[in-house]
Amino acid sequence: MTDQTTPKNPPIETDVVIVGAGPVGLFAIFELGMLKIRAHVVDSLEEVGGQCTALYPEKPIFDIPAHPRIEGAVLIEKLEAQAAPFKPVYHVNQQVTELVVRPDGGFDLTTSKGTQFRCKAVIIAAGGGAFGPNRPPLDHLADYEGKSVFYMVKRREDFRDKRIVIAGGGDSAVDWAVSLPEVAQKVYVVHRRDKFRAAPDMVDRMQAWVDQGKLELVTPYQLSGLVGENGILSGVTVKDFDGGERTLDADILLPFFGLAAKLGPIADWGFAVEKNTILVDRTSCETAIPGLFAIGDVALYPGKLKLILQGFADAAAAAHKIHGIVYPDEPLHFEYSTTQGVPGN
Ligand code: FAD
Repeated sequence: MTDQTTPKNPPIETDVVIVGAGPVGLFAIFELGMLKIRAHVVDSLEEVGGQCTALYPEKPIFDIPAHPRIEGAVLIEKLEAQAAPFKPVYHVNQQVTELVVRPDGGFDLTTSKGTQFRCKAVIIAAGGGAFGPNRPPLDHLADYEGKSVFYMVKRREDFRDKRIVIAGGGDSAVDWAVSLPEVAQKVYVVHRRDKFRAAPDMVDRMQAWVDQGKLELVTPYQLSGLVGENGILSGVTVKDFDGGERTLDADILLPFFGLAAKLGPIADWGFAVEKNTILVDRTSCETAIPGLFAIGDVALYPGKLKLILQGFADAAAAAHKIHGIVYPDEPLHFEYSTTQGVPGN
């Protein structure tokens, strides 16, 4: 994924900015594209996919229509492919922090990296809020992030033959401690307690790797430092609670201390927010501010289900209403995709 951010340039002008690249934000690109509406998409995470990528990439989903079973990460790959003909521009690793309604009814948005947009309509597809990892307090951590330190595993294969330190004691730490020894050269699990807060059968399977010498439990220890140069790790230092210190030879650090999701600045943008959701008109997903839409998990209306399939329908409803904003002089002729086709097909 290329980050096509141009922070020092003048505002990027586009039809629609989509805040959030979860499954619903990604499908909104397609629905807008079918109506010849251009979109830029912003996400606070380094990868698109929202909860599917961040929380359950390898778990199968069973209630996506026409997919009896599809893993979270595979669903996201397919949604990206479906959106690709409409040439969306992604701006990852940055949070939308400011939204201003202009006198002409359009919007100006600014992100935490200083990217600015000027657009005719905004779709908020922010799910439960901007995700961010809980980071360990280590010196120079930012230099290693995205090169040797990762807060999520997208493809296990990226870690083949690597020496990996997993830090944490919950489900994510233990799930990956069970999975990664199949591809890694060596795995360490650093945890501040001897006991793990994970499903007992998974803890047993982790112990089986210990017995085979592929995994070492480093407990009770906590992370204390990073060793390396130019963002490339060669070791991770850990401390016990009696002042003892060890350096673990490692290429990769995976801190799994949970993700925090916060609606954050969106909650201050001045529309009706109830329990971290935004009240919208059910027929179009428009908020009380004309031109500002909310879809997916973040949207609330009577009968709303927080399901991906309902978010997809939200995206279609919003896109059809936005057509009248982007093309006020053109009546919308409803067409099936079978009749219309998509670019390149
Ligand atoms: P999200 O997936 O939450 O994505 C929102 C994105 O917006 C995030 O990436 C976030 O970082 C970004 N964002 C938020 N605020 C900002 C901001 N200010 N600036 C930039 N970016 C921002 N649903 C089903 O239908 N079927 C299932 O079987 C199912 N299983 C699930 C299993 C688990 C373990 C979990 C946790 C959820 C499951 N869900 C399931 C729910 C499903 O994942 C959600 O309904 C879906 O992800 C909502 O999509 P979304 O695009 O609305 O939001």
